[in-house]
Amino acid sequence: MLSSDTTARGCAVRWFGMPWVRRSVAMLLLCCGAVGCAGLGPNLPGRGGSGRGLPLGEALQQGNPRRREIALTIDDGPHDPIARQLLDILRVEDVRATFFVVGKRVREHPGVVARMVNEGHEVGSHTATHRRLDTLSEVMIRAQLLGCEAAVAAACGRRMNLLRPPGARYNAATARIAEEGGYRLVGWTVAAKDFVEVPSDLIVDRVLASASNGSIILLHDDYPETVTALPRIIRALKRQGYQFVTISEMLGRLSPPVRVEPNPEAPPARSMTLAEPGTVAEP
Ligand SMILES: [Zn+2]
Repeated sequence: MLSSDTTARGCAVRWFGMPWVRRSVAMLLLCCGAVGCAGLGPNLPGRGGSGRGLPLGEALQQGNPRRREIALTIDDGPHDPIARQLLDILRVEDVRATFFVVGKRVREHPGVVARMVNEGHEVGSHTATHRRLDTLSEVMIRAQLLGCEAAVAAACGRRMNLLRPPGARYNAATARIAEEGGYRLVGWTVAAKDFVEVPSDLIVDRVLASASNGSIILLHDDYPETVTALPRIIRALKRQGYQFVTISEMLGRLSPPVRVEPNPEAPPARSMTLAEPGTVAEP
C-alpha cells in the first residue's frame, strides 16, 4: 500500500516503512502545509542502483547512480515564449529534455508541444489543471489524467507514459490509477525552485551544487531567468562529463532496467471517455 507526500525534501516518498522519526517529521510538515509546487530541494537516495528496480506505483527520484548522466525536466508549461526559448537552447546544445506539461496550457500552445516531440524531447503529464492529486476523488484523478492526455493527443497525436503529480503529491489511489493508465511516476532529485522569479545565478548555483550521477533536475518554464540559466547549467554539466538523457532513457538504464516507450501514437480509444478539459477548476 502506497501513500506519499511532499516532505522538506520535496519528493514523493514511501509512507509506510519510513522510520517513525521521519514519519513524524513528514507529518509535522504536512500539518504545517509546508508543501510547495516544486518542492524544497530534495536529494533522496536513488532507486536505480538498488538492484530492486522501480516497482510500479513508486516514483522515480533518481537514475542509476553509477552512470554519469543527468535528466533535465521542465514543468508547468508550455508557457510562451519561455518554452520556445528553452527549446531553442536545447537545440543549440543538442540536448534532449523531458517536459511535464499541463493540459490546459497544451491547449493554449499545441504547436509548442508538437515541436517538443518533433525535436526528440519527451513529454509527460503534469495533469489537466495542476491539481494536487491526493486531494481529489478517483473520478477527478482520472479526469486530470485524461484531460491532459486529450490535450497532448490533440496537439501531436501522441500519448504519455510518464506522470509527475503536481507538488509530488500522490496517494494510493493516484498510484493505482496511474498504473492502470500505463504511467510511471516521476519525482526529482534537484529542484531549482525557479517557479518563483529568482536570479539566474541562483538557479545555476542550486542545480550545480546538488547535481550528481543520475540526478533528475527540476526546472520550470515560467520566467526568463530560467532561459538565462539553462545554457550555463548545460555547459557546466557537460564540462563535468555528464550526458543528458530523457526520463525514459534514464528508466532504461536502471538496474534492472524499466522499459518505457516514449510518447507512442495515441490510441483513439483512450479519447472516448475523456472529461471535458476545464471541468476541474484550479485550486
Ligand atoms: Zn508543477
